[in-house]
Amino acid sequence: MDKMENYIIDLTDSRIVGTSYEFVIGDSFFEQFGGIISRGDIHTVVTCEYSGSLFRFSIHSEGKVITPCDRCLADVELMIDTTDMLVAKLGTSYSDDGDCVTVDSNDGELDLSSFIYEFITLSLPVKRVHKDNECNLEMISVLKKYQIDIESEDL
Ligand SMILES: [Zn+2]
Repeated sequence: MDKMENYIIDLTDSRIVGTSYEFVIGDSFFEQFGGIISRGDIHTVVTCEYSGSLFRFSIHSEGKVITPCDRCLADVELMIDTTDMLVAKLGTSYSDDGDCVTVDSNDGELDLSSFIYEFITLSLPVKRVHKDNECNLEMISVLKKYQIDIESEDL
């Protein structure tokens, strides 16, 4: 298995088919995207199959991420275990219609990082909260006070 420093795969290189790529994803990866995940420790394995001029990437990510709790805003740790498919093909210019990514055959480069990030984000639960009684109570009381202030301003 190859350990990758970056997330770019060259679709014009026939050696990618049948190869497994392994990524160790840490805090800097999530910081770069600046989304709801603030930190993380994820192990991702990508395999590639090719048939009928389509590349099918199976992307499996497992580990943990840190996001703000919906209730108290303090860090909450969530476990991730998701397997997703990404379909790509070579064409005249880069495009992504949601079902298939077309990569310009002149350079053949597909950057997997944003897809890996998206799949991890989509696998998060809708409600990201601490278990009962594990929320930061001090924070909640501050938030509640703030909420009441806003409500009284509306009157
Ligand atoms: Zn909480």
